[in-house]
Amino acid sequence: MPQRTFSIIKPDAVRNGSAGAILAQVAGAGFRIVAIKKQSISKHEAEGFYAVHRERPFFDSLTTFMSSGPLILMVLEKENAIADLRKLMGATNPANAEEGTVRKKFASSIQENAIHGSDAEDTAAFEIAYWFAGYELI
Ligand code: GDP
Repeated sequence: MPQRTFSIIKPDAVRNGSAGAILAQVAGAGFRIVAIKKQSISKHEAEGFYAVHRERPFFDSLTTFMSSGPLILMVLEKENAIADLRKLMGATNPANAEEGTVRKKFASSIQENAIHGSDAEDTAAFEIAYWFAGYELI
């Protein structure tokens, strides 16, 4: 059974022109794009999305960054999508990311790390529903 996950090409990657290459890497790895939209988000929307991190010291900085410019929101589908996307992304800190991963190639710091991917089934369901209406998932 195919599984769905939620992903964001973050503002750093959109700003520096690597969104197309990241999208190609994701599609080339066998993910079907169920839904995709480019938009800017407000600080308030970013805070709601990252609510689980609200006690972390980087919460304000992270949500300011995520609302600093356009990003690309996506729902992706394949067998084992959640774990496979996490593998494709690489470690949170690009300094620790494996060779060939999106973050190794395109991220510039632990915060400005190019891509987001859901880390579990329950978070994927929350994140998809946070950004997309049911009629957008085709
Ligand atoms: P992820 O699942 O690999 O995206 O990592 P987390 O869920 O732990 O963190 C969410 C996001 O917060 C990361 O992707 C980074 O953009 C940011 N972040 C994580 N750790 C740090 C940190 O130590 N400092 C800063 N400034 N940002 C961080």
